[in-house]
Amino acid sequence: MAGEPQDDCLFCKIVAGQIPATIVRETDTTVAFRDINPQAPTHVLVIPKAHHKDAAALAAAAPQLAADVLRETQAVADAEQLDSYRTTFNTGAGAGQTVWHAHAHVLGGRGLEWPPG
Ligand code: 5GP
Ligand code: ZN
Repeated sequence: MAGEPQDDCLFCKIVAGQIPATIVRETDTTVAFRDINPQAPTHVLVIPKAHHKDAAALAAAAPQLAADVLRETQAVADAEQLDSYRTTFNTGAGAGQTVWHAHAHVLGGRGLEWPPG
């Protein structure tokens, strides 16, 4: 069911503390932690604690929680002292989504080309 922890979900396991992560920030509803394979000097993932498969599903099922995630991207940028940064939600395998628990990538600390590859 949407929002319930999934036994086979990596990010649900991080939320539960069953897999270690370098946590940057935590709120009642979200966790922000460093990406294990950083693509920029700052590369943090912001996730809802509740399981939703991607950003679109999250926004449809729990719009306030989607807003919490978005607000946290700015809080991470502030904590990391980023003036400019990019927030990315990869949605679907063709766009590079590999973990099926909604997450925002917060990337910064280097020049970020636009458009991205
Ligand atoms: P996606 O490709 O789904 O948009 O993003 C998933 C991200 O999760 C990737 O950037 C990947 O490096 C990161 N990732 C995968 N496994 C782990 C893990 O065990 N710990 C952490 N911190 N990040 C992970
Ligand atoms: Zn999950």
